[in-house]
Amino acid sequence: MVVLGAGYAGLSVAQGVARRGRDRIPVILIDRHPVHVLRTELYEVGRLAAAGEDARSWTVPLARVLERTSVEFRQGDVRSIDFDHRQVELDGGSVSFGTLAICLGSVASYYGVPGAPELTHQVYRLSGAQRLARELKETEVRSAQLPGEARPRVLVIGGGSTGTELAAEIATTDWRKVSGPGARPPDVFLLTGSLPFLAGLPPKLIARARSVLHRVGVTMIHGYNVTRVDPSRVGIADGSELACDLAVWCAGLEAPKIVRELPVPHGKAGRIAVGPTLEVPGVPGVFAVGDVAELRDPETGSVVPGTAQAAIAEARTAAQNLLARRTGVPLVPFQYRERGVLVALGRGAAAGAVRHVTIWGSPAALLKRIVQREYAVSVERGEASGLL
Ligand SMILES: Cc1cc2nc3c(=O)[nH]c(=O)nc-3n(C[C@H](O)[C@H](O)[C@H](O)COP(=O)(O)OP(=O)(O)OC[C@H]3O[C@@H](n4cnc5c(N)ncnc54)[C@H](O)[C@@H]3O)c2cc1C
Repeated sequence: MVVLGAGYAGLSVAQGVARRGRDRIPVILIDRHPVHVLRTELYEVGRLAAAGEDARSWTVPLARVLERTSVEFRQGDVRSIDFDHRQVELDGGSVSFGTLAICLGSVASYYGVPGAPELTHQVYRLSGAQRLARELKETEVRSAQLPGEARPRVLVIGGGSTGTELAAEIATTDWRKVSGPGARPPDVFLLTGSLPFLAGLPPKLIARARSVLHRVGVTMIHGYNVTRVDPSRVGIADGSELACDLAVWCAGLEAPKIVRELPVPHGKAGRIAVGPTLEVPGVPGVFAVGDVAELRDPETGSVVPGTAQAAIAEARTAAQNLLARRTGVPLVPFQYRERGVLVALGRGAAAGAVRHVTIWGSPAALLKRIVQREYAVSVERGEASGLL
């Protein structure tokens, strides 16, 4: 049994199989990094900058969590998957599989906007968050030399949860502590494109988030897609340009290239359109889990969201079905029940909706921190439990 990707989906699948299998089923877990990245915390670039980009608080070493389990970790870059020969090609060799879980996550989608891949930052990957933290820190150091009252301008592109959390984090970080007493707080702009601000989240949560962003000085610019990115400026759909010292792309995700190229049914943004059991249509024993998969909830007709919460929930069903494929018992369908949603809004603030109750302020921020810590601890225990 082979699992590709040790993110929320892949690590949970591997740990789930190791826990369920009565006879220590050997599992090979492959990732390009030797650590599990706590991707849901990568918006914390102020804290990362203060930590000198030391990312230990944002990662969990895989060797440590997989010690004394039947999961063997192999570090490698997945280059292609051959369903006919049931083989995975890595940068250094190949691995055969009987059953397979594809859990390779998602990458930034730039929609062909010129300049965006090269000139914007991102927090979808740990290396991107580290680079942004470094650039922000240096931009703030230089801000002491700006003429008059000028401040650095940071443009966050994309008004979903990631863009919102990031804009609030940058606006509420004490940059004087991070970059020295002369640092001037940046002007932060949040640009929402054709999708409304925090599209799909409950209206009360959206109202809270909007008011907190306003209070911490984030300027919101609504309804314009970015058309091009040049050094120090971004072109938007009405023909005008926004000047900025740093631009961060939080405008969307798609499946990685090797997944988009697989000969299987694809959904939106190249995700693998899986059936209700998470199995890939036409390829028995191969499952797709997490951001890489598109699953339509048969009850509601809506697509299961690309979140860590959903990835971990799917992984439980996938682990069960991988084992079922080995023993020949019937597969079970995945059923998604959202536990709630929490959006961080900078130092000591968040807004959330848990079981249809809206929470905000410091209780919501505390809950967010508890949920994040509880997740990291549960990974170490060998059972990744749900996130919000
Ligand atoms: C800033 C931010 C905040 C978020 N906050 C929340 C939140 O509060 N709650 C929530 O539920 N969700 C949140 N999300 C979404 C959540 O992080 C994703 O939905 C989740 O990471 C999906 O899990 P995954 O396992 O599918 O992918 P990932 O966690 O991205 O894991 C994919 C793994 O595959 C590996 N990989 C990829 N390609 C290759 C390759 N070719 N070879 C080898 N290895 C490879 C990667 O190294 C990675 O370890 C947030 C996302 C971001 C960016």
